[in-house]
Amino acid sequence: MRNAQPQASHFIDGQYVEDLAGSEINCVYAATGETIAVLHSATPGIIDKALSAAVRAQKQWAALRPVERGQVLRRAADIIRARNQELSELETLDTGKPIQETLVADALSGAEALEYFGGIAAGITGQTVPLGEDFVYTMREPLGVCVGIGAWNYPTQIACWKAAPALACGNAMVFKPSEMTPLGALKLAEILIEAGAPAGLFNVVQGYGDVGAGLIADKRVDKVSLTGSVPTGRKVYAAAAEGMRHVTMELGGKSPLIIFEDADIENAVSAAINANFYSTGQICSNGTRVFVQRDIRAKFVARLVERSRQAVVGDPLDPETQIGPMVTAAQREKVLAYIETGKAEGAQLVLGGGVPQGDRYAQGNYIDPTIFDGVTDEMTIAREEIFGPVLSVLEFGDEDEVIARANATEFGLAAGVFTRDIKRAHRVVARLEAGTCWINTYNLTPVEAPFGGVKMSGVGRENSRAAIEHYSQLKSVYVAMGDVEAPF
Ligand code: NAD
Repeated sequence: MRNAQPQASHFIDGQYVEDLAGSEINCVYAATGETIAVLHSATPGIIDKALSAAVRAQKQWAALRPVERGQVLRRAADIIRARNQELSELETLDTGKPIQETLVADALSGAEALEYFGGIAAGITGQTVPLGEDFVYTMREPLGVCVGIGAWNYPTQIACWKAAPALACGNAMVFKPSEMTPLGALKLAEILIEAGAPAGLFNVVQGYGDVGAGLIADKRVDKVSLTGSVPTGRKVYAAAAEGMRHVTMELGGKSPLIIFEDADIENAVSAAINANFYSTGQICSNGTRVFVQRDIRAKFVARLVERSRQAVVGDPLDPETQIGPMVTAAQREKVLAYIETGKAEGAQLVLGGGVPQGDRYAQGNYIDPTIFDGVTDEMTIAREEIFGPVLSVLEFGDEDEVIARANATEFGLAAGVFTRDIKRAHRVVARLEAGTCWINTYNLTPVEAPFGGVKMSGVGRENSRAAIEHYSQLKSVYVAMGDVEAPF
């Protein structure tokens, strides 16, 4: 039996805290169905404790010199790197994602965020605005207590991407991981304490959606940053509006990957594979609508299928495994239902479409990497976010047509273009309605670049200096050097 049971469910004010009165959260290893930990959802008492600790720690933290805050974040990055193997194994148990991915894309991505925001913490300053003799100066101040709410696909990365800019700006955070993957964020909380953060600065409370809702409703909260689906985003945004709280919304997508006939086909196939099958397809920015220009479609699909057939599906702890199980049995059911709908609506299944057979797959939430050709815009699989390893190929004729079709969606998270024509690449990207675009690659999200969506895919940006705008606010101070004029 594998065991990933933490000391307790929550991490508050520098220590593990339990309250058995909260409803149970069963943590299941997606590859075997084993229960690896049992946690408890936060009760109102736990939520109160976490917010009180955060309010107190925030004042202490904001009073430090920014360079000292930066040092803590950078130390946390170093600790994560030193413990990457152990953290990656835990992430694999928590999510079911292959160890060959978690070793490079999860804790290490979190470490980069801590390092980046640790590095720029001391550079977060205001401005002076000259007004003749008078002047205004601005102060960039923290918001106060931020609530982070995570999705299940990148639990450690999401916790770090939210905590790093929030803490760099002088805020405290209460983070609620997804109930499906509650373990990674607890490690971040431990590591920040070890790195020298004050107790209460970064707290983790577990729970379902009601715990998230309870946090947002509390008057002590100044900002909410959600990573999740559009329906949840709508609710969280509305609840935050009640208290006029700041928000960042990182939501779902149905992103287009457009491949023109002059593209390097091998690179385009590689990108389509990465854009659909990495993390077993459970990535918000995935390019799930692969638009391929008419003349190369057959050749592209043949090569895509040939290469995708070689994917190694299996035990995520095996370093050879490239595709692990889906996070939960329910998510697999949802994806299998989409595949059936795709078939029923007339899409042509050219790879996968089912569940891999054999003893080694029997207990896990495995699903075959699946490719549909001949997909048309009105089909359900071309419109809705599936969040699984299901790739749709759509044929197109010319540039204007593909741009119109790529944009004909409520989502706007990401988009990719493959072409050797440099002018076309920039022309097309300029017209795509997406927050993050790639030219001749896909799904690279370095911490140095802003990341986020337009339309229903989100509000605000994570990563880069842009994130600072979303975790701080400006105070303007007018300084008069002369006498005060008054009408009487
Ligand atoms: P989800 O919306 O079901 O849940 C997200 C989080 O919100 C969970 O922690 C959940 O407990 C919480 N929640 C649910 N209802 C709530 C409420 N009423 N109030 C407060 N919190 C509530 O999403 P998921 O299934 O965990 O994740 C998959 C989704 O996340 C996909 O749509 C995916 O595209 C999106 N996602 C987006 C990004 C991004 O950066 N844009 C990254 C990863 C995932």
